[in-house]
Amino acid sequence: MLFKFISDQSKELLAIMNTATPTDFDLSFLDEGFSARDIVEQKINESSMTDDRDAFYVCDLGDVVKKHLRWARALPRVRPFYAVKCNDSRAVVMTLATLGTGFDCASKTEIQLVQSLGVDPSRIIYANPCKQVSQIKYASAHGVQMMTFDSEVELMKVARCHDNAKLVLRIATDDSKAVCRLSVKFGAPLKACRGLLERAKELGLDVIGVSFHVGSGCTDPETYTQAIADARCVFDTGAELGFNMDLLDIGGGFPGSDNTELKFEEITGVINPALDKYFPVDCGVNIIAEPGRFYVASAYTLVVNIIAKKVIMDEEFASDEEDEGTSDRTLMYYVNDGVYGSFNCILYDHAHCLPTLHKKPKPDEVMYPCSIWGPTCDGLDRIVEQCSLPDMQVGDWLVFENMGAYTVAASSTFNGFQRPDIHYVMSRPTWQLVQQICSQGIPAPAEESYLIEVPACCGRESSLDLPAKPCQAHVI
Ligand SMILES: *Cc1c(COP(=O)(O)O)cnc(C)c1O
Repeated sequence: MLFKFISDQSKELLAIMNTATPTDFDLSFLDEGFSARDIVEQKINESSMTDDRDAFYVCDLGDVVKKHLRWARALPRVRPFYAVKCNDSRAVVMTLATLGTGFDCASKTEIQLVQSLGVDPSRIIYANPCKQVSQIKYASAHGVQMMTFDSEVELMKVARCHDNAKLVLRIATDDSKAVCRLSVKFGAPLKACRGLLERAKELGLDVIGVSFHVGSGCTDPETYTQAIADARCVFDTGAELGFNMDLLDIGGGFPGSDNTELKFEEITGVINPALDKYFPVDCGVNIIAEPGRFYVASAYTLVVNIIAKKVIMDEEFASDEEDEGTSDRTLMYYVNDGVYGSFNCILYDHAHCLPTLHKKPKPDEVMYPCSIWGPTCDGLDRIVEQCSLPDMQVGDWLVFENMGAYTVAASSTFNGFQRPDIHYVMSRPTWQLVQQICSQGIPAPAEESYLIEVPACCGRESSLDLPAKPCQAHVI
């Protein structure tokens, strides 16, 4: 069973998580009947008693656990190696380490973080095809053997600086339909692969497999099919040249919330048959992936406070009472986190963030065209160009959901604005589930149904005879 690779390390981590102290991170266990949303309310109420209404996050680590179950259900053949760059919070990495995932690290610091939690080097892939020499040496000294490459120069560096590398050839994909393209920067074209494999052979290097990344925010699942078929060709070439390749790494690109057009199970419904066709179960190839966004996006809720407001009157409408539904004003809200902080995802990750209201609007509440701005003095610092919101006041709150991916990982303190505090929570039943996964592996679907209900169409077997319909995990 692929998912049963939990070791004693997980038991130690469990103990640490159970007693997580403020110096580690601020983790609260929620009693039954309470949700992360209740903590959002509680924190808002606490803050609202003071003037100190800083932006804050609530991160539901239980959501990360549920994602892990969803992964195991939908991609039973594929072991996840979480891409640390997506969100390197210690609490997230610790949760995933406890659950037994592997890790995709791209730098010495990410390797250090993962290893500081006691993760065995065999659970790390150094998945950066263009590495600094000193960092290759660091990986070598710390037992990290799996690493990607996509050029001859990289092969020569690895031959010189690593004692026992297990190399994975990263191939380019057609990522023209992805939100964030990666194959412009990384990945060898298919026609270059034979040459690279020959060079690796000459240098006495061991190539153990092939990896790719379809681009973050993949919008076309057929990209995976093509990339899996291309990987098969490279495996065949590798075998001809005498390599014993047994690792396929299908990368990341999986959606992190269900608001995307393409749902996770729609993608996996395409990937599974492609894997079975090109890499059948008995072919002896281990399959891994490097999901980032998938695990963390929906776990984080960001709550920001309105610190300033402007009302821009539109002269034309000033006295025209009959014109109902057309607003006579535009509102500008300024909040205490922006694109230099958590909302860097707007610049770097092409994200579109829209708030939900903290105070439910009345049925007849008038809505106005609004823009939302961050706190810094840069004109670029705009979160929402245009949306519809009621008339709110300084001191009111706005809630942004699905803020876990490529947010906290790249935020700065430009202009002196500090990063929001993160309050981590996990429900007690989910915590029990983590302990169960640690001792017995992923439970059968029936056992977890009180925590997470995955519709039948998400299960692998049943998806074979069902049309590829979008489906979501319904959290009770
Ligand atoms: C960024 C990255 C990932 C994670 O991508 P997601 O789209 O967040 O899943 C995985 N692998 C590599 C090599 C990456 O650079």
